[in-house]
Amino acid sequence: MEDTFFIFVGILIGLILGSFTTALIYRHMNGQSVLFNLIDNKKIAARSQCPKCGHKLQAFDLIPVLSWLLLRGKCRYCKSVIPVDYPLIEIVVTFFTAFIVFHYQVSIITLGLLLILPISITLLVAAWKNDSHSQSRLIKIFFLISFITWLGMVYVSEDPLHLFKILTFSAIAGGVAILIYAWSMTLLFSKGLSRPTLVCFTVYAIWVGWSNLPVFVTVTMLLVLLCHYVSGFTSSSRFNGFFSISFLIYILLQPYDLL
Ligand SMILES: [Zn+2]
Repeated sequence: MEDTFFIFVGILIGLILGSFTTALIYRHMNGQSVLFNLIDNKKIAARSQCPKCGHKLQAFDLIPVLSWLLLRGKCRYCKSVIPVDYPLIEIVVTFFTAFIVFHYQVSIITLGLLLILPISITLLVAAWKNDSHSQSRLIKIFFLISFITWLGMVYVSEDPLHLFKILTFSAIAGGVAILIYAWSMTLLFSKGLSRPTLVCFTVYAIWVGWSNLPVFVTVTMLLVLLCHYVSGFTSSSRFNGFFSISFLIYILLQPYDLL
């Protein structure tokens, strides 16, 4: 009974979060604020509108997945095509949210993971589209939200000092691992990794914990090799996307054992 309840709540939160994620992706990658529209230099609370015709969208246009299906992937007003990415992202976010809520229930880890999930997915899309500018802005927010969550985790932990040590050790291990990797990339291919990418990896390393780091690095490298093999050269600005995919796999496979 309780399990069903958490899955139900997870799906509900996931649908809202999925809708938020598509808005975050669209607005962030077009250089707009998620919260405000700037009209005549005045900040007006942002409302969703069709990117083609600018028509304000009503509540019934914004029901996750369902609206897209009912409108057969077209804007109700101008009939321009709404890419299938939108419902796909909503489904992925809903799935992961339901999984996280079911697995970690009411906890600070659930809160933290749900806060960084939209950022991870947005990073993945930005990396896919090779948009390095919006990635570096996202990684700052990613670091900030993660840092606040870790503080919260230490605060509510029964053994704060132990957790603090684990987090610090994971940060050092992650930092060293990615620096060695960046250094070898520079030696081998004269192509380093950018600073946001180093930060991004270190933040993910703290989330997975130092003991899971070898598996996390291996999965990431396998993904990079696979992508390299399938589609030729993998630009280093795509790395954040690979980290995000490994992290999503990690959420599914690895029961979180930090607390
Ligand atoms: Zn339209």
